[in-house]
Amino acid sequence: MRTARRAVFFALAASLSLAAQEKAPAPQLKTYTAIRAGTLIDGKSDTPKRDQIIIIRGNLIDSVGDAASMKIPPGATVIDLSKATVLPGLIDSHTHIFLQGEVPADGGYDIQLLKYPLAYRAARATVSVRRALEQGFTTLRDLETEGAGYGDVGIKEAIDGGYIPGPRLFVVTRAISTTGGYNLEGYAPELDMPKGAQLIDGPVEARKAAREQLDHGADWIKVYMTHRSWVDREGKLVSQPTLTVEELRAVVDEVHGWGRKVACHAYNGIGLKRALDGGCDSIEHGLDLTDEEVAQMVKQGTWYVPTLAVYYKDLDPPDTPSGQRDRQRIALHGASFTRALRAGVKMAFGTDVGGFPWSESIAQEFSREVEFGMTPMQAIQSATTRAAELLGLNGEIGVIAPGARADLMAVAGDPLADVAALGNAVFVMKAGKVYRPFSGKDALH
Ligand SMILES: [Zn+2]
Repeated sequence: MRTARRAVFFALAASLSLAAQEKAPAPQLKTYTAIRAGTLIDGKSDTPKRDQIIIIRGNLIDSVGDAASMKIPPGATVIDLSKATVLPGLIDSHTHIFLQGEVPADGGYDIQLLKYPLAYRAARATVSVRRALEQGFTTLRDLETEGAGYGDVGIKEAIDGGYIPGPRLFVVTRAISTTGGYNLEGYAPELDMPKGAQLIDGPVEARKAAREQLDHGADWIKVYMTHRSWVDREGKLVSQPTLTVEELRAVVDEVHGWGRKVACHAYNGIGLKRALDGGCDSIEHGLDLTDEEVAQMVKQGTWYVPTLAVYYKDLDPPDTPSGQRDRQRIALHGASFTRALRAGVKMAFGTDVGGFPWSESIAQEFSREVEFGMTPMQAIQSATTRAAELLGLNGEIGVIAPGARADLMAVAGDPLADVAALGNAVFVMKAGKVYRPFSGKDALH
């Protein structure tokens, strides 16, 4: 009995571990790289360190210390970043590699599902992941494919197999909502339209959907707990709830049994309350959190992944209902962020990139985090150690320390003086392999 149980445990643990994910040949363990860091922000210390040397052995960080006292192993490749700031590879906890900004002039969201073959969308997702890596994001939690089925599992396998460059991905596949709870919408009722999420009704279907998605490779499960939103006669933001608490509990119970976690899209109101009562592990967006909900999140240890910057884009005209809604979202989101931060809610960096084009800077979110109360160091930690903790990988990623994966990025300038500097990656390494070599041509201050 005991042996059997242990075997199951090891099988599951292996499927979740980083080692199982990294199928690409790692650099040889006897290969050493030494990085000279002018300034080091290691992800966990609250103060930066000057003139450090990071020794990398294969795909792992071997040691870190003062340049004056560190010995560089003979034959090591030396990378001189002595004029740059070196940080852990960044983690974006909320992305959509299968979306491309939903530009209205290009057909918006619907055209993605109606006109584009899956291979076309996969080709563009290949560019999305490369863009993320080039910007210093070495890990993404990608929160659903928007009608592209299990395409995220395929992209992840292609990255892990070493066929295309990209961050390590944690994927959710199709996501779950209810009838009336997701796009495509607004078409003749006689038409059987494709949907951007797997729609369920009732706890049995909810659990089945979670099982199917886990079976086909989901690392996390994503649930939509709210859908449409509008401003009511009193000027308050209202959002339509989707799953019942019973439906959500079936999903959470199933997913937790697999040792995985549930991310819940929830704006506010009934749907957000159900998300918390039903045991969601992370609240996505959380535009409008009441004091009671914030207290419940602290008590339950629920993660908050706000996505501020994306809501400042493409606002409808101010004199239209949707334009009023857009402005209300921004006002509530910033205030909720500040409230949650002060109360000590666990917060991780997320952007919803894909909701805006991958040609834009992912790092723009850092400036919004600081605008609403984080210090630049807190903002950096939200995308490093905090995000690693959300993923259950603290100590393994999001930190520059012995034994962690050698995921590093470097920027010109001082991100503690201006977090916008994080948008200027000059060097990127993932698991010991350099994906963006430092070039002397990059502007350094
Ligand atoms: Zn999203």
